[in-house]
Amino acid sequence: MSEITTDSAGQKITNPLHIPVKSDENVVLSIADQAAWLLSARPAFELQQAEQISFLAHLTQSPLTLNQHFNVLQLPAADLVHYAYSIFKHSGCLIVVPTVNLAQWYLYLTTIMHNHSPENHYHNWYHAVHVLLNCYRYVYPLLSQLQPLDIFALLLAALNHDLDHCGISNTALINQVDPLAVKYHKVSPLEQHSIDRALEILNDEAHGTALLQAVIQPNNNGAPVTNNEHNAAKSRVIEIFRNSILATDISRTVDHEAILTHYLTFHNHLDYTDSNQCLQLLTIILLCGDIGCVCEPFYQSMQWCGRLYEEMQCHRNSRQSNDIAKVVFQPQSSLENDQGLYYSLDNKLILPPSGSLSEYYTNQLKFLEYYAIALYARVSEPPSCSLGHLSPYTTRLRQNLIQLAHSYFLYEPSLGVLVKTLTSFSSPS
Ligand SMILES: [Zn+2]
Repeated sequence: MSEITTDSAGQKITNPLHIPVKSDENVVLSIADQAAWLLSARPAFELQQAEQISFLAHLTQSPLTLNQHFNVLQLPAADLVHYAYSIFKHSGCLIVVPTVNLAQWYLYLTTIMHNHSPENHYHNWYHAVHVLLNCYRYVYPLLSQLQPLDIFALLLAALNHDLDHCGISNTALINQVDPLAVKYHKVSPLEQHSIDRALEILNDEAHGTALLQAVIQPNNNGAPVTNNEHNAAKSRVIEIFRNSILATDISRTVDHEAILTHYLTFHNHLDYTDSNQCLQLLTIILLCGDIGCVCEPFYQSMQWCGRLYEEMQCHRNSRQSNDIAKVVFQPQSSLENDQGLYYSLDNKLILPPSGSLSEYYTNQLKFLEYYAIALYARVSEPPSCSLGHLSPYTTRLRQNLIQLAHSYFLYEPSLGVLVKTLTSFSSPS
């Protein structure tokens, strides 16, 4: 749970919702109070306005997949609660939880926001909402083919996939024999922890956030939903939830290849009535959505990459150690210029906020080429396949790779490490 804390100068530094608090006390408002505040501050007309103007303008413009004018990082954290709700609503999937009202939704989403650490520069509430948005972009052309229950599960998984992330990689947790690694027997501890924590909240009646208790598979005849039908709907949500979130552990290279290879055997003639094929499709969508930040326009993608690198630098040691200065994440860091970039003094080079420059560039370039482009290219070809609409993202990724490489060479043209990689791409014009 996020707490309202003070920095070394005693100033209040984290209050992502800008909720009024008594400054002389270390007050932590209850989730219910915060949800009530949000609702009172966001009257219905504003909700509609946001949906009709901001949200729909961002999402329904053509081409949907390559809208360049929207950056999650520019919104206040509280607006992302609002925005996340808008995505669920816009998708039409809320019919699977017909008894959950708006107040309960805000309560749930606020709880999820507070279960993301503001000390993480990357694995935070902004990333959660960004992945939700990415997954919605990717599933949008398939909405009419998929069951609302499956769409609901995908969107929930996207929002929860890094819940309560501690800012350290699985490998580091395992090497340090961290309690989380022990608990989950060294198998994807971060993802398993997020799943367990998310299911806890989804079932938590005390907070009025028991969304899973309300899930049904809507039937066309309006007949009452039986207990069996309710249980089947709940199991389906959990199945999609578990499978897709576990797949986001990118260190499980073997599993990844198996998941991808299996999906590619049917993706060009996907049978949308086959629940297993749909499950694989949704898993791939979350896998892509999780790294979707690198497909954003170059400067936006660099904002995200810089944050991930910064988080790795901050938390490289044990999560138990207190010798690391914890810096609360800010959407617009003071390290950035007004374009959100880390620049060198000559204004030519994009710099990581800290750490080794060549390590930063090498990691980014390798990640783009060998992981991101490879994944997007494989799942979006041929154009007639289920995710053929992702091919513009592959193009964007290649452009970003070239631009990043160009920036790197401005810094150190004599470095030969990446020459082989780079010569296969043309220089940016
Ligand atoms: Zn993630």
